[in-house]
Amino acid sequence: MAAKKTSTAFEYAPAPESRAIVDIKPSYGLFVNGEFVDGHGKSFKTISPSTEEVLAEIAEADEADVDNAVKAARRAYTRVWGRMPGSERAKYLFRIARIIQERGRELAVLESIDNGKPIKETRDVDIPIVAAHFFYYAGWADKLEYSGYGSTPLGVAGQVIPWNFPLLMLAWKIAPALACGNTVVLKPAETTPLTALLFAEICQQADLPPGVVNIITGAGATGQALVGHPDVDKVAFTGSTAVGKAIAKAVAGSHKKVTLELGGKAANIVFDDAPLDQAVEGIVNGIFFNQGHVCCAGSRLLVQESVADDVLARLKRRMATLRVGDPLDKNTDIGAINSAEQLAKIRELSDIGEAEGAGRWSPPCELPKHGFWFPPTVFTNVTQAHRIAREEIFGPVLSVLTFRTPAEAVEKANNTPYGLSAGVWTDKGSRILHMANKLRAGVVWANTFNKFDPTSPFGGYKESGYGREGGRHGLAAYLKGGVEQ
Ligand code: NAD
Repeated sequence: MAAKKTSTAFEYAPAPESRAIVDIKPSYGLFVNGEFVDGHGKSFKTISPSTEEVLAEIAEADEADVDNAVKAARRAYTRVWGRMPGSERAKYLFRIARIIQERGRELAVLESIDNGKPIKETRDVDIPIVAAHFFYYAGWADKLEYSGYGSTPLGVAGQVIPWNFPLLMLAWKIAPALACGNTVVLKPAETTPLTALLFAEICQQADLPPGVVNIITGAGATGQALVGHPDVDKVAFTGSTAVGKAIAKAVAGSHKKVTLELGGKAANIVFDDAPLDQAVEGIVNGIFFNQGHVCCAGSRLLVQESVADDVLARLKRRMATLRVGDPLDKNTDIGAINSAEQLAKIRELSDIGEAEGAGRWSPPCELPKHGFWFPPTVFTNVTQAHRIAREEIFGPVLSVLTFRTPAEAVEKANNTPYGLSAGVWTDKGSRILHMANKLRAGVVWANTFNKFDPTSPFGGYKESGYGREGGRHGLAAYLKGGVEQ
């Protein structure tokens, strides 16, 4: 009798999250002084990067709109928020944090639709950390005298954020600013405005006094008008190093305090005594989390020569299991690239990597027909001189370099204009401490990667920017007694 045929292959069944929970309006105005108002300027479309479907028409704030928003923030600061006891401000922040938790699914689905990132990340990473930031800074609001930076706010903060973690970057900016008694005008990135606008509705729901939070949408020109506005006391920017440098020049010589969270090119360093399977998980999480659209992504793998072949073989095996596709499918590991421009940039740098002689490999994977997609990619035989080893690709592309000694690993890891983060994988605690002391990076993770916590300060060295966000240090940026710039 013939043996019964059994299959070891997993059957794949899509498990899409319903989008019925979100209510995307056909058009959105600007959120100024507690209400949605029409802008004076033009408008632009926000699209879903996974389908190219137009989601909504968004107002583009011009200089007059920026001025109105700053005026509303100033009024709210002088009349209400700047005078309110910290214990009262805390109540609003706790309320916002709770509403974020209650509306977590809605926020997660909307973020995945507008940004293209997988629902399992928005649901399990972005939104829980967003709520945690509001809870954490709510706790500081009535304890600022213990911060070490005094308790006097700066006034009006102008905040500009990127598209890779739209709501999380908003939380990193707004929660500490409000806790310290400042009011804010925030500009989300032009490709991902929707969750910031939903956050505006949450401010209304929380009865936040009008003008304490203002959200103005638009592109670079709107951001430029905001950071250049004379009545802004504090500029907080997260984005590319090129724009960060332009902002630093624009505000130099003014009274404005500035924090800049910019780009990165992190080394993820694997020693031969590391638990290799765990290290491979850390490598995958380091570069393929959020499609590699992560400022602190482990985009340079430095692996000790003696285990390089083994690590690479395990890594390729693991990469072949990554599922690329619909961001709303709960099985998806890698979603869509955020925009056609970003996809073009990733393609260009990857092609240059190949032309410069690096070995390119991606697992076989079928990419959706519509939308913007790039397969998980690894480059081997990469040298320090290659552009893919030096420039931020900001996509699911890993460059692999090797080293022989810890000193060589430090040398190579620090050989970059950036200094945001690094990872160290080893069995030895003493080596972790040694490496952490030598690496010029704001964050060094040991035997893990891409771990974020509101209690922990985050920020860069060198061209990765200055100032810290998160933790007690994050208060310095929003208080007169803050020592950081
Ligand atoms: P980007 O600099 O192009 O844009 C960021 C924001 O700045 C957007 O809202 C944009 O509209 C606005 N902007 C553009 N020109 C401006 C100008 N002249 N004045 C004022 N605002 C202006 O960056 P991006 O492509 O949206 O984001 C990706 C970059 O962000 C990457 O380099 C990444 O490393 C960095 N990033 C850094 C961190 C961090 O914490 N260090 C976190 C996330 C992203």
